Amino acid sequence: MENLEERLISPEAAAEDFDSEFTLRPRTLEEYIGQEKIKGNLKVYLEAARRRGEPLDHLLLYGPPGLGKTTLACIVAHEMGVQIRTTSGPAIEKPGDLAALLTNLQEGDVLFIDEIHRLSRQVEEVLYPALEDYALDIMIGKGPSAQSIRINLPRFTLIGATTRAGQLTSPLRDRFGVLLKLELYSPLELAQIIRRSANLLRVPCDEEGAAELAACSRGTPRVANRLLKRVRDFAEVMGDGVITRETATEALRRMDIDPLGLDELDRSLLRAIIELYGGGPVGLDTLAAALGEESVTLEDVCEPYLMQMGLLARTPRGRCVTDAAYRHLGMQPPQRSGPMQDGSRQQSFADLEEN
Ligand code: ADP
Repeated sequence: MENLEERLISPEAAAEDFDSEFTLRPRTLEEYIGQEKIKGNLKVYLEAARRRGEPLDHLLLYGPPGLGKTTLACIVAHEMGVQIRTTSGPAIEKPGDLAALLTNLQEGDVLFIDEIHRLSRQVEEVLYPALEDYALDIMIGKGPSAQSIRINLPRFTLIGATTRAGQLTSPLRDRFGVLLKLELYSPLELAQIIRRSANLLRVPCDEEGAAELAACSRGTPRVANRLLKRVRDFAEVMGDGVITRETATEALRRMDIDPLGLDELDRSLLRAIIELYGGGPVGLDTLAAALGEESVTLEDVCEPYLMQMGLLARTPRGRCVTDAAYRHLGMQPPQRSGPMQDGSRQQSFADLEEN
């Protein structure tokens, strides 16, 4: 079984990303490339909050991993001139853990909770009055003599990040004033990100080299930065250290990443649907078992990109490959009575939301 952490083009953060994260992470909205709609709206909200002298409304960021949710939360704190405390849903085990975090905040601070859909029910209940009234209700004692006391908290902004907005309970979702959905980046935006990172890391990379890497970055800045670092190694050892179209193409080929940016796992997923299940439909769990992978890996890591590229479609009866997938793998698409459309961008994003 392939380890997700080791997968070069996994959008999840891996240990090796942390060193460079500090250097590469944009610190202001100006430096943050792409997501123009989100940036435009955020600028207005930030300005309005600053003028009123109030903290920003609670903010929910959602979208696939590696698209810049944590980065955006840090930028909000920076632009508001406040501190940010960072934690994640699974790290807050007990209501007391959350109470400790909340009581340590300063007026105006940002509390960032990654993977907020993984908070437990009990912890979530502590969060409701904190979000609504900036207060903490604590029960003292047990049984009939139990008493509830209320502690006031400083006014703060919660920024929640999730890959799965659909899994958030509706009481929690309703308490966010602003919901922002991050989209996969275009190759042009990714090329800009790669050139910015190359500058910061002092790696010479020409325009064509950046475009080549951008096309294989699955719409994800984290993947783009990781590819840049790997291709730099190849460029240094095989050439004069400059990332050009030739060095990038050769390095990607050696890393088994094809011109659409698919790796071996993506291709085995498509091949399994074709060879074992006649092109689909097949259920996600069946497919995961056939590949010896976790369902969540396929669902969060492989599928969003395969759907965006129009190679895979999610239907109510299961996953199906499109004719484009057959062609990409060098196979002949089957004759069908009703043509199997290449999955459209629209449909993919709608499907993503449902999960
Ligand atoms: P998420 O929290 O959504 O998983 P991160 O905020 O950790 O993603 O982003 C991953 C990396 O991608 C960051 O280190 C940052 O360098 C880079 N990145 C993300 N978004 C952008 C952007 N819009 N412009 C430039 N770099 C970005």
